[in-house]
Amino acid sequence: MARIVMKFGGTSSANTDALRLCAKHVARQLNSGDEVAVVISAPSGMTAELSKKISEVDEKSKHLDETDLILSSGEQINAGLLVIILREMGLKARSWNGWQAGLITDDNHGEARIIEARTGDLCDSLKAGEVAVMTGFQGVTKECRITTLGRGGSDVSAVALATAIQADRCDIYTDVAGVFTADPAIEKNAKLIPELSPEEMLELASSGTKVLHSRSVELAMSEQMPLRVLSTFKAGSGTVIAKGLETHLVSGVTYSRDVSQISLMGLAGGIDSMQQLFSALAKKKINIDLVVQSSTRQTGLSNLVFATSKLDHDRALSVVRSDGLSGLYQNLNSVQEMTKVSVVGLGLRSQSGMLEIFFRALAEANIAMHAVATSELRISALMPEHMIESAVKALHFAYGLDKTST
Ligand code: ADP
Ligand code: ASP
Ligand code: MG
Repeated sequence: MARIVMKFGGTSSANTDALRLCAKHVARQLNSGDEVAVVISAPSGMTAELSKKISEVDEKSKHLDETDLILSSGEQINAGLLVIILREMGLKARSWNGWQAGLITDDNHGEARIIEARTGDLCDSLKAGEVAVMTGFQGVTKECRITTLGRGGSDVSAVALATAIQADRCDIYTDVAGVFTADPAIEKNAKLIPELSPEEMLELASSGTKVLHSRSVELAMSEQMPLRVLSTFKAGSGTVIAKGLETHLVSGVTYSRDVSQISLMGLAGGIDSMQQLFSALAKKKINIDLVVQSSTRQTGLSNLVFATSKLDHDRALSVVRSDGLSGLYQNLNSVQEMTKVSVVGLGLRSQSGMLEIFFRALAEANIAMHAVATSELRISALMPEHMIESAVKALHFAYGLDKTST
């Protein structure tokens, strides 16, 4: 007998027909003798709709605690519906809100982090043969205020629950057959990757691969929790992500739309100015994703390009325009609607020629990059949003990902 956490995403639970399908998967897992805890998302689109409604009354996002109460309600509806369906099938089941399950978070409303999981009661219910259906995406502060974990956060709830209850595996059911070499919605020739190491998956997720939230992969990696990504709608073994599994020279091409770009031209003062700028941004908790510095023809001056999330764009701008910093550079340019396209793979660190393939593929597709950055496992380029599709396709082809999934 194993203990399995099954997470169903928004598209897998968008309506009652889809929920009935989720219930069938749960019944199958139970029939094989396992204990089953379920983590359920809101029906797809509902969280975004609720968010829109909130902005009608809270334009400046000042009431983040109440926002969380509202945003977390979609998951609650689905948890109740799924439990009713399971009971109507003759199975024992009950719902658990994040707070009932004991998922305690910090008070960073909207992007809360789980700091403790007191899941004793939920484990007792599993041992008694009940299916525990927990709402994803939400937790509670020590002061009993409801929090949410950030968009896409049900994946984080699932892995957190799996580690807290010492599950044998966490299965993420979604609308695609697993993790592919590129987003199958964009690249029809994308191939399913049957096995991935946690390091590869983390790099894919943190550079934009939406199928798993990067924090869920981080947690699974540190807690050595095996993950499986598979389809709710189509039979198949999906993608297994676990320590010691096969690794790939290039795992995939990925993109993130959540990028904005700020360029400072004619920056004086070299490293000292950069230190001043980035420490001011860090003080405001603005995450910087990609930094490229290049020298100019004028001695002592350089140009600096960096990326932030779209959400942080305005705050980042006001920091670099602030009195103490605006004198450090000559011109400022910013674009809020940017994207970052990346190639990810363990082979990028050791194989010469990988960067050349990247530049050649984008040049041949007539894609003008705004900045390029490399790390051990990734090559990323900033580009305007409308170029995503052609860039993903060009890179997918250039690295031979359409031919093989290794
Ligand atoms: P869920 O509602 O189940 O949480 P998401 O919408 O968060 O699902 O994630 C699934 C989506 O991720 C897929 O529909 C797919 O378009 C997208 N996606 C992006 N990149 C990839 C990739 N490399 N492999 C698989 N899916 C991907
Ligand atoms: N419902 C939340 C969202 O849409 C959480 C999730 O689906 O993972 O972001
Ligand atoms: Mg998701």
